[in-house]
Amino acid sequence: MADQWIVGVDLGGTTTKLAFISMDGEIIHKWEIPTDNSNEGQNITKNIANTIDEKLEELSFLKGKLIGIGMGAPGPVDYENGVILNVVNLGWNDNFPLKASLEKATSLPAAIENDANCAALGEMWKGAGNGAKDLVCVTLGTGVGGGVIANGNIVQGINGAAGEIGHITSIPDGGAACNCGKTGCLETVASATGIVRLAMVELKKDELTGELSRKLRENGKITAKDVFDSARNGDALAIRALDEVSFHLGFALANIANTLNPEKIVLGGGVSKAGAILIESVKEKFGKFAFTPVRESTKLALATLGNDAGVIGAAWLIKNKLNK
Ligand SMILES: [Zn+2]
Repeated sequence: MADQWIVGVDLGGTTTKLAFISMDGEIIHKWEIPTDNSNEGQNITKNIANTIDEKLEELSFLKGKLIGIGMGAPGPVDYENGVILNVVNLGWNDNFPLKASLEKATSLPAAIENDANCAALGEMWKGAGNGAKDLVCVTLGTGVGGGVIANGNIVQGINGAAGEIGHITSIPDGGAACNCGKTGCLETVASATGIVRLAMVELKKDELTGELSRKLRENGKITAKDVFDSARNGDALAIRALDEVSFHLGFALANIANTLNPEKIVLGGGVSKAGAILIESVKEKFGKFAFTPVRESTKLALATLGNDAGVIGAAWLIKNKLNK
């Protein structure tokens, strides 16, 4: 068993990431295929099975090298029953039996989990979590995802919707519309698009000097990265926008920490690439709202696995099953 591999899969709306991963969580080979969501998603698990067989052949290994397949999928997942409850852009109907479909296609034991939860498990196992058994992971990207690990296990909730940190209400009145149907969610102020929105509000206060407003004039638009870059260069307007983003993140994360007192809160996703300027600013706000024993024990850290967190966490699902 020690020299076998686990297949880790991170299923996205446009791309499927795959990796062969050793029993101690090291990536041996990783590759990607496009996600074919035509034909009501009928081809997705078939294509995964085919690409795995091709990769084994290319590497001259037999199927017996593989011990199981773990997959992170977008949307709420019923882990015990292996069912994906609803998915927006993969063609499947609600309550799609993904685990069974994956097992049938690949002839391997399978486990599935929500993708943000897989990223959290990956960071726990091999990343910034460094083995911490109580961990909260927040993914700041196009949206805001979350995963809560308590005592080494993902907190699922009664309907698979636990850990949806992105939909914590940050602006109770008059907030922007969120993809979930509510308004004022954390996602509307701390995702890449949310950050741009906050900066645009500042830019509209007819302040036409400074680096960020120059970028807007030159390019016709700004990105979240522009906001962080300009803040780093001392642009007052960008600093105000960053301050507001950090306030909302620090406020939400402190309240999560006041409830769970995790060992670590890990910030990942594209937005977290802003690095020190973001995390230091969030830490400052967090310190203000965290209960003293929480402030002294719960640490904030940047994710370290990048895009690999999902496949590594998916592999952990199989590893964890074998240990039981
Ligand atoms: Zn929402």
